[in-house]
Amino acid sequence: MKDAEESSNGKRRFRLIRGFRDLLPPETYLWNRLEAIARAVFESFGFGEIRPPILEAADLFEKSIGEDTDVAGKELYFWVDSPRANKGIRRVRAVDKNSAMRSTSTDSKVRDELLHQASSGAFDALAETDLVTLRPEATASACRAYIEHGMQQLPQPVKLYYLGPMFRRERPQKGRYRQFYQIGAEVLGGSDAPAIDAEVIEMVMTFFDRLGLTGVELDINSIGHAADNCRRGYVEKLKAALEQVKDKLGGDSQRRIETNPLRVLDSKLEHEQPIIEKLPRLADHLCDECRTHYAAVKRQLGLRGVIFKENWRLVRGLDYYMRTTFEITAKGLGSQNAVCGGGRYDGLVELLGGPPTKGIGFAIGEDRLILSLQESGKGATAQGRDVYIAWMGEHAYAAAVRAAKDLRSAGFSVELPPTELKFGKALERADKLGSRYALILGDNEVAEGTWTLKTLADGTQQKFTEPELLEFLRKP
Ligand code: ATP
Ligand code: MG
Repeated sequence: MKDAEESSNGKRRFRLIRGFRDLLPPETYLWNRLEAIARAVFESFGFGEIRPPILEAADLFEKSIGEDTDVAGKELYFWVDSPRANKGIRRVRAVDKNSAMRSTSTDSKVRDELLHQASSGAFDALAETDLVTLRPEATASACRAYIEHGMQQLPQPVKLYYLGPMFRRERPQKGRYRQFYQIGAEVLGGSDAPAIDAEVIEMVMTFFDRLGLTGVELDINSIGHAADNCRRGYVEKLKAALEQVKDKLGGDSQRRIETNPLRVLDSKLEHEQPIIEKLPRLADHLCDECRTHYAAVKRQLGLRGVIFKENWRLVRGLDYYMRTTFEITAKGLGSQNAVCGGGRYDGLVELLGGPPTKGIGFAIGEDRLILSLQESGKGATAQGRDVYIAWMGEHAYAAAVRAAKDLRSAGFSVELPPTELKFGKALERADKLGSRYALILGDNEVAEGTWTLKTLADGTQQKFTEPELLEFLRKP
């Protein structure tokens, strides 16, 4: 079996599914610290947290992201969620498990037949809502929730942030996983004032700044809106220009001339670069309103001290995306160096059945953020325990339990060994755990009422009563 192997006792040993990871301590300390900073920064900008479910109807994303994109077209994890389908799958598995000679042709015939029955049975009366998917992103969920809970009745705009796992079946590599984490925010409703675009970008940059992320580069662009006097007109010109150079382009770009010409601008192929540089540019074809909006966004960014680079090749291929788009890259990530993508999507809520609603948002790739922090030496994880309690003797144990309780409620991290250890052994463990102090409690200390605190870095010792001890530890 691919994802399992036999262990020495002959039992199947389970392993992670490809592209999925366990996040473990002490690294999770960094994840938690980063998430706490994100919450603090976003809340300081007046955003509130939304926690949408991880499972959604598949067509929510097919509709919003577009079926001919990588994400909705081939990266979705989806399946039929119905009791009949479950039953069918169980029957097929039962055949698999019970047949001693799985590979005989009779067995595979039975299996195929069952599979056929299972699927035809399951798909017969299939309702749209029976096709579910692990969410690949959360913008569509936020918009669905905005509509579903009538959030247009609230004071506008509604400012939401989220964090959590997303799922895409892509080829796993450094900075690219099948379960990855995003931290994102959306501003829904109200106006499309350029100040909103600028403030959203300022918020991400403040977060990155607070993290001490290095080599951060912000690219911005305006992709206008889907009208003949704006982006649609430009795309026609682009298409014509691409037809002229078609035979010099690679296969992917050739196909995109028909399906999604804007995406040709995304190409990283070396030999296409000089060709792309000579193509007509969207900035020269924006309508007056979009041009004015873009100029104002840049001015507003300047006002906020946000440094940016204009990148005319930064595009989004879908109609409901409009005007401001941005992308942020960071250091130490190789080719997977985008840590944040965002933009305005004024048509999305309407597309999902809601009222016409302005919208802008971004999504940060948390896994890549962590990688970048680690690569630049900013990935410090938890220090060890504050206090390790080295106790010996029955009376000492009772005092140790009490001391652990008091110290923990005073906010310290405390390790209390569950069984008695010789002091030498206990101090060795304290050291290995990276503890700052060892509190030495023997029956003598308890009788005297003075406790010994050893600073592990330099080996010095001091004696304290319990209240003195707390006071000493509280000092910075
Ligand atoms: P990429 O071009 O790297 O595939 P994308 O355009 O698919 O990115 P978005 O959908 O805009 O990415 O998601 C926003 C951010 O989420 C990305 O900038 C990236 O940091 C992160 N991200 C996307 N896919 C993955 C993944 N499979 N593993 C880890 N992080 C990811
Ligand atoms: Mg992708």
